[in-house]
Amino acid sequence: MKQFIEKKQDVVICGGGIAGLVLALALGKTGKKILICEKGKYLNPNGADVLKPSGISILSELGLLPNLLKAEAQKRHEVSFFHNGLPTLHIDYRLQQSTDHFFLIPYQEVLAIVLEAIKKTPSINILMETELTEIEQDNDGNVVTVVLNEKEYVYPDIVIGADGINSKLRNLLGINAEMYFYPRAMYFNKFPIVNSVRERNRLYVDDKNALAYFYPINHKEFRTVLSFEKDEANYLFQENQVSELKKRLRKFVSCSDDAIEAITQSNGFTTFPLCRMNLPKYNFNNVVFIGNAAHSVHPISGQGMNLAIEDAWELFCQISNYYKRALALSEALNQFHNTRHPISQAIANYADQLANSFGSKDGFYLSLNPKIQTSGRQINDLNAIGL
Ligand SMILES: Cc1cc2nc3c(=O)[nH]c(=O)nc-3n(C[C@H](O)[C@H](O)[C@H](O)COP(=O)(O)OP(=O)(O)OC[C@H]3O[C@@H](n4cnc5c(N)ncnc54)[C@H](O)[C@@H]3O)c2cc1C
Repeated sequence: MKQFIEKKQDVVICGGGIAGLVLALALGKTGKKILICEKGKYLNPNGADVLKPSGISILSELGLLPNLLKAEAQKRHEVSFFHNGLPTLHIDYRLQQSTDHFFLIPYQEVLAIVLEAIKKTPSINILMETELTEIEQDNDGNVVTVVLNEKEYVYPDIVIGADGINSKLRNLLGINAEMYFYPRAMYFNKFPIVNSVRERNRLYVDDKNALAYFYPINHKEFRTVLSFEKDEANYLFQENQVSELKKRLRKFVSCSDDAIEAITQSNGFTTFPLCRMNLPKYNFNNVVFIGNAAHSVHPISGQGMNLAIEDAWELFCQISNYYKRALALSEALNQFHNTRHPISQAIANYADQLANSFGSKDGFYLSLNPKIQTSGRQINDLNAIGL
C-alpha cells in the first residue's frame, strides 16, 4: 500500500543511519513533522559495535537505555592495548568518565532500537528505498523542494544530510568533500565467542602496522577486526590461508590464543576502506550535514558512531532554539557548525596520529589518550589533543 506523505515537512532527513535516526527521534518528540528518506531496503548493517559514554548519555536522554539493556548490550568497563605483544595501556572507564562503562552492541541493533521508538512517534515518517533525486533552491540558496525517487515532491523547512560518507545530498548541492584514504583497510568478521574475549576487550598492534581487535557482540559471537599493510593483507585474506593468518597473528597477539584458534577462515572478511574527512562548513543556508556525511575519522579512536550521535543531539538543541524563536535559522545552524566542527577536527587529528603511531611502543602509548578514547568531551580533554 502506498504511504501517504504530507507535502509540507518541517525537516527532511536524508539517510537513516544513527545520525539521521537520533535527530529524527529527538525532533519528532517535540511534535515537528519529520520525514526520513533511507536509500536502503533495510537499515545499514555495517557500523560501529561500540557505544561509548557520550553516545550512551544521549540515548538515555531519549529514554532508550532500557531498550539497550533488553537487547543484551554488553556492559564493559575495561579495554587493554598491546604493542608487539606487550601490555601498553589499560583503560578503565570507571577512572575516566562519570558514565563508567561502554556498551558492545551491533550497529544494526542500535538502529533497530531507535527505529522502534520512531515508529511510536506519530509526527515522524520513514520511507525506505527512497532517495532525494533532485532539489530546487530559491534565490538565496535555500532548498525549497526535494524530489523523492524522481516523482514525489516535498517542501521542507530544513534539510539534513545524514546520508553517510558518500553523501548524495552533498553532490546535489555541488559540495566537494576532500577525502584522504588511509593506505590500510580494516577487515571484519565474527566467530563463536571464546573465554579471553568474554573476559576483556583487547586491541593489539605491531611495529609492522598490523592490528587485531577482539570483542564480543553478543553472548554467542565475537567481532574480529584485523588490519595489515596492503600487500600482506592481499596475501593473508586469500582463500585457504587461515594457517598463515594465524601464524602472523601469533607474532603480536599475546593473550588471546583462543580467539586466534576460533578463526576458521581467511577469506570472507568484510573489507572497509578508511578515510579521513571534515567538511570545512557543515551548514549551507537551510541544509546541514551531520555524522559521516560531515566528517569521517579513523575507527581506531572508536568515535565515529558517538560523534554522529553527538552531532544529532547538538543539532536538535539548535533547531529547537530556532523553533522556539530564540535564534534565526542561520544563527542556529551556524551555532551547530561552530560547536561541532572543531571537535570533529580535533578527534580526526587525534585518530590520525594514533593510526600512524604503531612504529614504537612509546609512540603508541603516548598517542593513546584515555579521556578521548572513552569519549571525553570536557574542554580540558579536547585541549589536550589540540582543540
Ligand atoms: C565496519 C565498521 C566499523 C566501525 N567501527 C566503529 C567503531 O568501532 N567505533 C565508532 O565509533 N565508529 C565505527 N564506525 C563508524 C560508525 O559506524 C559511523 O561513523 C557511523 O555509523 C556514522 O553514522 P551516520 O548515521 O553518520 O552514517 P551511516 O551509518 O553511514 O548512515 C548513513 C545512512 O544513509 C543511507 N544513505 C546513503 N546514501 C543515501 C541516499 N542517497 N539517500 C538516502 N539514504 C542514503 C545509508 O543507507 C545509511 O543508512 C565503523 C564503521 C564501519 C563501517
